[in-house]
Amino acid sequence: MLKVEQVSQHFGSFRALDEISFEMNKGEIVGLLGKNGAGKTTLMRILTTFAAPSSGLVLMNGENIAKHSLNIRKKLGYLPENPPLYTDMTVQSYLKFAAEIKDVAKNKQQSQLAKVLHECDLEKVKHKTIATLSKGYKQRVGIAQAIIHEPQLLILDEPTSGLDPIQIQQVLTLIKQQREQRTLLLSTHNLSEIEQVAQRVILIKSGKIVLDKALDTLLSANQPSPLTLEQVFFSYHQAPSQLSDQARERRPHE
Ligand code: ATP
Repeated sequence: MLKVEQVSQHFGSFRALDEISFEMNKGEIVGLLGKNGAGKTTLMRILTTFAAPSSGLVLMNGENIAKHSLNIRKKLGYLPENPPLYTDMTVQSYLKFAAEIKDVAKNKQQSQLAKVLHECDLEKVKHKTIATLSKGYKQRVGIAQAIIHEPQLLILDEPTSGLDPIQIQQVLTLIKQQREQRTLLLSTHNLSEIEQVAQRVILIKSGKIVLDKALDTLLSANQPSPLTLEQVFFSYHQAPSQLSDQARERRPHE
C-alpha cells in the first residue's frame, strides 16, 4: 500500500536521507529505528506530505503523494513528536474540530467521535480542557485525532516519549488494536516497545536504511542464542573492527 522509491532529502550540503527505498503492506506494523538525528522524523514528514523530498517518489496505493497531497492526507493519520493540540479546548471539542478539518462526513462525525473516545479510553475526560490532562492522556488525544477519519496508514513519531510505564502499556495496547484496521509506521527509541508491537523493523543510520527485516527472522537468526533487538541495534552502531564475524554478516547493507 506504500512504496518509497529512492527518497533523498538534502538540507544544504547535508544529506539527511540518502536514497531510501522500502515498501509497506496492508496491515503491517513496522518499527522505524535509528539514533537521534538518523533521519526518522524527516522521513515521516515526507511520508505525511508535510515536507517534499529533494528527490525520489512516494506512492500510496499507486498514487504519487506529492501530486495528490490533499487526497492522501485524508487517508493517513499522523502523530508528530509534539502533537499540535489546542490545549485550551476540551477533548471533545478538539476531536470534533479534528473530524471537521479531516473531512469526516457530517452524518458520521458523531459516531466517529464516540468511537475514538471509546478506543482511546477518553470518555471520562471528554469534558476536560486538554491543558489539564496528564501527558499520557494528551498522547491518547493525539492518537484519537490521528485516527478519527479512519486512515489506512497511521504514522506515529515517538508516541510513548515521556510517558510513565503504565501509560506506555496503555498506548502500546492502543497501537496493537490498530493493527486490524490499518498499516502502521512507528518510531520509538524504546526497543522493547518495538519487540512488543511490530512485525518488521527498519533501521536508519545516517540517512540510509541499513536493516529491513521481519522481526521474528531477525531475532531468531542467531541460534542457539537468539538476539534481543537491543543487541542487533548496538551491533549496527559499532565499528566493523569491534564486531564478531556473525555480526558482520548480519550487516548486508553496509
Ligand atoms: P530524533 O530521534 O532525535 O528525533 P531523527 O532520526 O528523527 O532524530 P531527524 O529529525 O529526521 O532525525 O533529523 C535528521 C538530520 O537532519 C539531523 O541531523 C537534523 O539536524 C537534520 N535536519 C532536520 N531538519 C532539518 C532542517 N530543516 N534543516 C537542516 N537540518 C535539518
